[in-house]
Amino acid sequence: MSVLNLKDITKKYGELAAVDGISLDIERGKVLSLLGPSGCGKTTTLRIIAGFISPDAGTVEIGGKNVGHLKPYERNVGLLFQDYALFPHMTVAENVAYGMRYRGTQTSEIPTRVSQMLALVQLTGMEARRPHQLSGGQQQRVALARALAIDPQIVLLDEPLSALDAKLRLELRLELKEILRAVGATTIVVTHDQEEALTLGDEVVVMNAGKIAQRGTPTEIYEAPANKFVAEFVGRSNWLHGSKRGQSSDGVISYVTDEGLEIRTRAGRPCGEQGVDICVRPENIELVNGGEPEPAQGPEQNVLAGVVLDVAPLGADVHVVVELPGKNRLLAIRKNVGRSSVVVPGQSVRALFSASDVLIF
Ligand code: ATP
Repeated sequence: MSVLNLKDITKKYGELAAVDGISLDIERGKVLSLLGPSGCGKTTTLRIIAGFISPDAGTVEIGGKNVGHLKPYERNVGLLFQDYALFPHMTVAENVAYGMRYRGTQTSEIPTRVSQMLALVQLTGMEARRPHQLSGGQQQRVALARALAIDPQIVLLDEPLSALDAKLRLELRLELKEILRAVGATTIVVTHDQEEALTLGDEVVVMNAGKIAQRGTPTEIYEAPANKFVAEFVGRSNWLHGSKRGQSSDGVISYVTDEGLEIRTRAGRPCGEQGVDICVRPENIELVNGGEPEPAQGPEQNVLAGVVLDVAPLGADVHVVVELPGKNRLLAIRKNVGRSSVVVPGQSVRALFSASDVLIF
């Protein structure tokens, strides 16, 4: 059963539709990431659910009830917003207890609940501190404890980790995931960070210009993007442009790029014929030395000859840029497995990738 149901939500600011006819539902206990570029309407959507913004059209149901007429504090929603900071004059315990007091929780129950929440976010013993006596990560954990303390039907997190430095962000991301799973919180987390969205979400909703571009599991979003926007926004990709040449009996389709390179694809869905965009993920490209004999090319295999332009060793990965005939460039990301695998700029190589790893839009 859905905990949250949005139906045809629209919110305009003047001519601009910040949210443009969005429908969305979430099942109990699931975490949904709302991912998209700046200005695509993520925060507006979240604020409409929380009740801070009234939509121009559409309905918000929480727990099967239309909450359109309810004020934010009357909705059973836990909030951790970018600008919804801790109260500086209150202790940690008072901050966590705030929502409960507001909602009329029995006073005798509050201390136990505060202790439980602080244990959950690993801040036991910090009850008497004030926010300025905590690190940024600890402050965010108190804010999370405050959001969860009211036992909300749904938890809304807006860029919960964005104020933290990269290392802490990574640590807290895993912690956040564990906590949300442990309490079985039905959650929407808004982020413009794709790694965060793909790590935290059971499902990811990618938004573009106020609309949903795709909803799917992290794997679906990455491996089967529904359109060019999603393919470009999530993960890295190489793009070529071309037109269809033919199709073999076993379902492999050949395209020819504008520069005359042949690309084979085994498309899982119908795709265009003229003027299509051809996408290959960099980690699906194998590089072999161009001086070696041409590998036997099966019908499923793509082989493009090129010259290495740049090699950037980035820790666990090596990013190799290959220039193809016609000045197109391909990025190949290889695992950094030691010196033997290293290619050097100027070297002739062949880029190999499977027809099943080629997407057409
Ligand atoms: P970000 O990741 O930068 O926070 P977002 O996806 O959350 O972006 P929103 O904050 O929802 O985007 O904004 C969506 C669009 O609506 C933007 O173009 C924004 O400029 C516009 N917008 C938001 N609030 C208002 C407002 N109060 N008045 C006018 N325009 C607004």
